Amino acid sequence: MAAKTIRRIGILTSGGDAPGMNAAVRAATRTAISMGAEVIGIFEGYKGLIEGELKLFNERDVSNIISKGGTILYSARCDEFKTDEGMQKAVATCKKNKIDCIVAIGGDGTFRGAADLTRLGIRAVGIPATIDNDITATEYSIGFDTAMNTVVEWVDRLRDTCESHGRCNVVEVMGRNAGHIALECGIATGALAIAISEHPFDADDCIRRIINDRSRGKRNFIVMVSEGMGSDFSENLTKRIERDTFVETKFSRLAHVQRGGSPTLRDRYIASRMGTRAIELLYEGKKNLVICMQNNRMTEVDIQQAITIDRLYKNKITQEELDKLSEKTRKSMEEAAKKKREYIEYLYHVAETISF
Ligand code: ADP
Repeated sequence: MAAKTIRRIGILTSGGDAPGMNAAVRAATRTAISMGAEVIGIFEGYKGLIEGELKLFNERDVSNIISKGGTILYSARCDEFKTDEGMQKAVATCKKNKIDCIVAIGGDGTFRGAADLTRLGIRAVGIPATIDNDITATEYSIGFDTAMNTVVEWVDRLRDTCESHGRCNVVEVMGRNAGHIALECGIATGALAIAISEHPFDADDCIRRIINDRSRGKRNFIVMVSEGMGSDFSENLTKRIERDTFVETKFSRLAHVQRGGSPTLRDRYIASRMGTRAIELLYEGKKNLVICMQNNRMTEVDIQQAITIDRLYKNKITQEELDKLSEKTRKSMEEAAKKKREYIEYLYHVAETISF
């Protein structure tokens, strides 16, 4: 598609917010303007698209947001968009406002929405942004680095006070069902043990090691838990450690502080590059793609493929979905999922090796 056929590009952020979303909005806006398109900021994700919460953006509307956490476009979950009626309303908003293309910044739900829009004639490209880093098609999602830096800073503080008082602290971090934040931050903060849903957790071993290390003079103990372990896991583990080790044990759930704050260099840099790349792809006439990092390089993946590999990795895929794939595609997806699992196992092994 020639450049002149793009009149307006809409940009939205949807699903859970992530630091760095603003840097992506800024880069996409400025790139689109420099290539001759008009930019429409869509507020509160797909809800704003249905309700027509729009603003024509100029380059100054995205001034001073590269360092801001949250998203200036705001975010919302919108179940209406998942219905045919809601989707038709969103398409009508696009048509009425001459929006030819959409850049959708968010997680897997956001990409499903983008795929639906493409199917209905509005070309969409997705940018992965979630602190959980749980989108299988990409090694990296915007927000992950900032969230981890926040966790490291807060756990360092907890460790200081644990050391003073000779305590243990069980720390629960975000990640939905994925343990990436817990695993990498557990390594980076020197946690004694890490509980993630991807690997069996041996509470007896954790307790034995606390008793043993205490007898050898260790004063502070950090036990990192991913929220994917379930709602009461952390509190129960805290009580059990204190009961069985006689080491005073506190529980801290870091919760939503992990979602805020000024984005790190890495998040600003990757968001800026992804924002620009999304617009370039639209000008190349492409659609229905998610920008991904693979082998540390930026590339793009068909949205449907990205959703399928995600479902395969998370063991949610149905036989019907599998049957739709060619033998070659299925094998390469299974191989990629296997590699990811092996990588997590390896990181877990590293964490265990250095945690005493
Ligand atoms: P994330 O994008 O972070 O995964 P959600 O899963 O909540 O967050 O999705 C964000 C929004 O994307 C939803 O509120 C909804 O508007 C839209 N969405 C989610 N799933 C679908 C779907 N299956 N079809 C169309 N739109 C969807």
